[in-house]
Amino acid sequence: MATSVLTQPAAKGGSFLLESPAPQDVFTPADLTDDQKLIGQTAEEFVVKEVLPLVKDLEAKKTGLMPELVKKAAELGLMSGGTPEEYGGAGLVKVATTVLTEKISVYGGFAVTHGAHAGIGTLPIVYFGSEEQKKKYLPKLASGEMIGAYALSEPQAGSDAQNSLTRAELNPEGTHYLLNGQKMWITNGGFADLFIIFAKVEGEKLTAFIVERSFPGCKPGNEEHKMGIHGSSTTPIFLENCRVPRENVLHEIGRGHIVAFNVLNSGRFTLGASCVGGSKHVLMSASKYSKERKAFGKPIGEFGLMKEKLAEMAVQIFAVESMIYRSAGSMEAAMHAAAGSGNKTQNTMKILEEYAIESSIAKVYGSEMLDFVVDEAVQMFGGYGFHEDYPVCRAYRDSRINRIFEGTNEINRMLIIQMLMKRAMSGQLALIPAAMKLADEILAGPSFEETPEGVLAEEVRVIANAKKMFLQVAGGAVQKFREKLAEEQELIAALANMVMEIYGMESSLLRAQKSADARGEASASVLIDAARVFIADAAERVDHEAKRAIAAVHKGDMLLTQLAVLKRFGKRPVVDTIALRRRIAAAVEAQDRYPFEGR
Ligand SMILES: Cc1cc2nc3c(=O)[nH]c(=O)nc-3n(C[C@H](O)[C@H](O)[C@H](O)COP(=O)(O)OP(=O)(O)OC[C@H]3O[C@@H](n4cnc5c(N)ncnc54)[C@H](O)[C@@H]3O)c2cc1C
Repeated sequence: MATSVLTQPAAKGGSFLLESPAPQDVFTPADLTDDQKLIGQTAEEFVVKEVLPLVKDLEAKKTGLMPELVKKAAELGLMSGGTPEEYGGAGLVKVATTVLTEKISVYGGFAVTHGAHAGIGTLPIVYFGSEEQKKKYLPKLASGEMIGAYALSEPQAGSDAQNSLTRAELNPEGTHYLLNGQKMWITNGGFADLFIIFAKVEGEKLTAFIVERSFPGCKPGNEEHKMGIHGSSTTPIFLENCRVPRENVLHEIGRGHIVAFNVLNSGRFTLGASCVGGSKHVLMSASKYSKERKAFGKPIGEFGLMKEKLAEMAVQIFAVESMIYRSAGSMEAAMHAAAGSGNKTQNTMKILEEYAIESSIAKVYGSEMLDFVVDEAVQMFGGYGFHEDYPVCRAYRDSRINRIFEGTNEINRMLIIQMLMKRAMSGQLALIPAAMKLADEILAGPSFEETPEGVLAEEVRVIANAKKMFLQVAGGAVQKFREKLAEEQELIAALANMVMEIYGMESSLLRAQKSADARGEASASVLIDAARVFIADAAERVDHEAKRAIAAVHKGDMLLTQLAVLKRFGKRPVVDTIALRRRIAAAVEAQDRYPFEGR
């Protein structure tokens, strides 16, 4: 089961914009139990020992090889993290599945195969399946006897998934639905035995179906020629009067969007965790290479600009890892609190929706962090980074897809704000009273602020002010555009960027403070350095986003007044991030790996 020791109540989704939790109230990688670490270790060892030696054949799509590896991983319980034990799964809770996903994501091709099978291919049945469907399919998916896939996208319907043209008509006998249409870009399509396929009943009711590959009329097409993740399979699925038994309707007719979007919420969070795992391995390779490669008579790792890259990779991984484990902890606490009461499916849906903002943040920030890390790693490898013989070259190509699937990063940025607004309007999140209180504070003018004390005290104030900036800008935007705000996409993206930076800053801060509380400031010093660097740079980015957003909202004298307020909130000391990054780089180089593992 591998549950975590979570004593605190679950923080509500999105509440990080309003509340300032104490360090002991957030989950961090240092809180992982030995069981959870063991799960991670098993997953990582499996990929390093069983998968990586076969990469050449996997990239060439050697027939049968990936399904064989899926089966082997399934025997170790690695392909069924989220499947309950009663259906043959590993029955892991959120933190443990997060570790599993992170650690299994060393190689992009396998990570994507794993996500499509264990995540979006299996979880729809776990969350929405009837008892019969669960009993029939979950044990086979858990053991790898069947490989799963999720088929929502179509040639004309990706982001706009509800524009599906695939149709499902009940046959005259009322025994089967006949599915007609085409699905596109289906991960695991080349070998999956079971597809969660979405189609419209009576032309308008989007519905999810469990479709076996062997059903007549289910015809997977040829492999797509992709930029990266060559180890994974991606094919179209053609549906020609595909006969699906009526009992294979998943959840309810016309409720396919509920299945699709909730599963994607979960998939987005998992994708963020996967990006953390991938990035740590790239950092390891870059650090090792920086010692081997010599230029101007010395290892390139001795140059300040190479050290800066290693340090920045570590800092960004640290921030994303801090956000992801904090969110996983909140989700697990919420699941724990809901256990045993009410309908399980409904509870799960509520929790997935509750943390939809955090899940989109994990996806967007995680994928952009990984893209940054692989890009800088290629740069450190110089010309060799551009050569297929070197794994960073593949990692660079493999990374790019993460910003596109599971909802593009543009769509997810908009979702972050849409969901925040929805929660604010329904009163679930007290954003409106907070914005009104802030307006009073602004009118009252600057107040005396006490000199902060304690570990990262200045940063605490920086983050509190960043939250005020968000409230100020978002409040102005809502007042000006009201229900038309959705049309102001650039403004929404600026607000979403502020939200993400705030979550990253605060999660990094709380983790460093928690570590200092537990082990003393001296032994947490590099963690504190990482938090300071991230917060210093993120605060600049918040400033930038706030200014460009506020310029789109206010004009003339009002704009000048608002800018003056922003300036007040943006006051902060200058941090010597060059010196701090040198220390962080030294920590990376000392171990040739990400230095904050499990801390
Ligand atoms: C390798 C790979 C594997 C995949 N695996 C799966 C899978 O297993 N199952 C599955 O169902 N799908 C899968 N997909 C599909 C993937 O989810 C879609 O590609 C993705 O959702 C984007 O849709 P699209 O390609 O149609 O792009 P489009 O929706 O056409 O988007 C094109 C651009 O327009 C932007 N855009 C679109 N709408 C808006 C808007 N409202 N506002 C602002 N910008 C907008 C997008 O952000 C993007 O930049 C996979 C794709 C790939 C490439």
